[in-house]
Amino acid sequence: MTRPHTLLVDMDGVLADFIGGACRVHGRDSQAVLQGWPRGEAHVDAVLGMTLDVFWRRIDAEGTAFWEGLAPYPWFGGLLGWLESTGLPWHICSSPSRSPASAAGKMAWLYQHVHPRMRDFALTPRKELLARPGVVLIDDNERFVSRFKAAGGEALLFPQPWNHLGAVADPVGRLRQRLEKLAG
Ligand SMILES: [Mg+2]
Repeated sequence: MTRPHTLLVDMDGVLADFIGGACRVHGRDSQAVLQGWPRGEAHVDAVLGMTLDVFWRRIDAEGTAFWEGLAPYPWFGGLLGWLESTGLPWHICSSPSRSPASAAGKMAWLYQHVHPRMRDFALTPRKELLARPGVVLIDDNERFVSRFKAAGGEALLFPQPWNHLGAVADPVGRLRQRLEKLAG
């Protein structure tokens, strides 16, 4: 296996609390939603008991502000510190929603939280196009992870209630272990 040489890091569900933002928009208590989350259920609209159209309508109505306003997860600083400590180049790889405001809001979020001149990102729903041996995608979405691997890359699933790993106490520590394993 090719040693990892490049890391791609997802935003929503890894760095930014998209579910928290979605719960706020829909007037739901995100702690309660997370506690009652059926393990591995990937469809947030189903968990919130609404159609996908209704789920997105209110989010899209907020425009870029929704995406800009997402809270960084508590482990955000630790995760960035760990990425730097690997010595590997890392880049953001995030899929925008169908609304153009999502891509603009995500760029604003990166400028605000990572670097004011952050240019190290790929915003695409086709993450697998970046897959090749030694490139490791870090993502909370099982579909992106399996497509990326099928296209010849490596991927580390970021533990969250909506994937089969479920939430873990120390997600960054888990990533560190998994990457060390990949590096052999
Ligand atoms: Mg994600």
